[in-house]
Amino acid sequence: MKDKRKYSDRAAYLTKAVHARRRKIKEMAVAHKGGQCYFCGYKKCIDALEFHHYIGDKIFNLSKDGITRSWSKTKSELDKCVLVCANCHREIHAGLLQLPQAIEVEK
Ligand SMILES: [Zn+2]
Repeated sequence: MKDKRKYSDRAAYLTKAVHARRRKIKEMAVAHKGGQCYFCGYKKCIDALEFHHYIGDKIFNLSKDGITRSWSKTKSELDKCVLVCANCHREIHAGLLQLPQAIEVEK
């Protein structure tokens, strides 16, 4: 039997499914990076946790608009990042927090 559903019939479902997948990848990514802010240990709200790139070139952004890449691509990008909370992330970019050792901080 031919599927007679139209995109419009499923738009709400698909939007929800994409949202759920992005959220799951973010949860996996946060867990992969230790589950809390590298600097202050914050872990109360996952939406306030971000990834700061500090090694090599950024291939894609892990923070904005959710993570849309495969888990394996996400993981290799995560290897170039440190997990920080939104406050510490801003402080890194403002030069108030220093990453350990000879890590170059991008501005
Ligand atoms: Zn923090």
